[in-house]
Amino acid sequence: MIRPGPAVKVAVPVAILGAVGWTFWLWPSHFLWLYPSVGALFIWFAWSGEREIKYIFLFLATAAGFIFPNVSPEGASPGLMAGALAEALGLWLLFYALSSAESSRQAARDRLSADEAAAAERVRDLEDELARYRLHLDSTLARIRDKGALAGAIHDMGAAATPDEVKARLEALLKHYFPGAAVELRTGAPRDFADNWVAERKIPLLVRNSESDSRFIRGLFSGQERSFMALPLHLFGRLVGFVRASASEPDRFKAEDLRGAELACTLAGVSMENIYLYEKVKELAIKDGLTGLYTHRAFQTRVEEEILRAARSKVPFAVIMADIDHFKSYNDNYGHQAGDAVLKAVAETLSSGVRDIDFAARYGGEEFAVVVTGAGKAQAAAVAEQLRRALEARAFNFNGRPSRVTASFGVAEFPAEGATASQLVRAADERLYKAKESGRNKVVYA
Ligand code: GH3
Ligand code: MG
Ligand code: MG
Repeated sequence: MIRPGPAVKVAVPVAILGAVGWTFWLWPSHFLWLYPSVGALFIWFAWSGEREIKYIFLFLATAAGFIFPNVSPEGASPGLMAGALAEALGLWLLFYALSSAESSRQAARDRLSADEAAAAERVRDLEDELARYRLHLDSTLARIRDKGALAGAIHDMGAAATPDEVKARLEALLKHYFPGAAVELRTGAPRDFADNWVAERKIPLLVRNSESDSRFIRGLFSGQERSFMALPLHLFGRLVGFVRASASEPDRFKAEDLRGAELACTLAGVSMENIYLYEKVKELAIKDGLTGLYTHRAFQTRVEEEILRAARSKVPFAVIMADIDHFKSYNDNYGHQAGDAVLKAVAETLSSGVRDIDFAARYGGEEFAVVVTGAGKAQAAAVAEQLRRALEARAFNFNGRPSRVTASFGVAEFPAEGATASQLVRAADERLYKAKESGRNKVVYA
């Protein structure tokens, strides 16, 4: 609502009062008709929101109601006085009604503005709360993203096929988490004071500000290492290396960063252990524990592969079967350990006497088998003859007594003498038996 200015507020009632007074002066006999127009004053006050001056005017108007009848030319008749009194009373009633209407309006306005203030306060509270929720939401989303990235990294590291791949992925992960920071992976023994600190205490190191860290004398860290982390890399409980991260500004890494990096290093260690264990299991399945040669099963697989290759390329291959002569006697005369030593020596003679592309296996007990790739039986028999001579030439010593070990050999060729793996092995085995029959320490290939 538009409120008039203070000058207007006073000027208007003075003008009204002046005009009414002037009219009284001109027509005093019309007093009773004119006097109620003073009510316009109070209506004006009520509308203009005036509080104090209206009381002065009320008394002025009341006084005028008593004074003017007395100064009228006819004199104050009791009728006139009673009329003036009644009209003054009427003015008071009007004044009272307008004032109470105004004050109840004012009270309503006060209530409204109090409500408005309370509502504004609530809005501010809600906005604060909303801001806090947004912050919480952002950090929760960031945490979810971090967890997602970590899960991806775990998966990635677990899928690595070699230890070097694990190391590369660990380095990439740390570089991703600490953009702009220098990340280094070191394998082997400790190389400086920071590595030593980690190796001695067996815990990771976090330096928030290398210039004010009381644990280290100043100048040990370079200017590029104001913030610094060093973590141990373990493999099967052994310390095998260090992961280091540094940044040229202080307070770059926090305790939770160290924890995250530690987790990543542990994961990398576990992933590498898994790779080693997997390789070990694979090796155990195909390599004989005593001699280090391939197992019977690996030999069978290799023969099947050779058959497929030879069938495609039309280039034959051959199998040599070998059996140590009178092996039982070494066991019986010198004990099982001596027998084992003979087995190892024969295995070594075989594996060093064939080409890398050939395949020497322990077929069982003291029997051996060799796959000679891309060769007919004549060529394979020459190989067998070389092996026989190499073994024969080898000097053994049992309980201080010099001795010799010999073996018998049977050779057969694919596909001419056996179209399947078992036929081929049987053919070579039959010739080995012939070699035994005809005096041992021989190669038979026909
Ligand atoms: P031959 O010249 O006819 O082949 O005579 P041999 O004594 O070698 O023949 P035989 O096949 O009868 O003997 C094989 C022996 O090899 C029987 C077994 O005790 C022994 N043997 C099998 N595997 C091993 C092993 O892993 N270690 C040791 N020490 N002995 C084994
Ligand atoms: Mg035998
Ligand atoms: Mg034997």
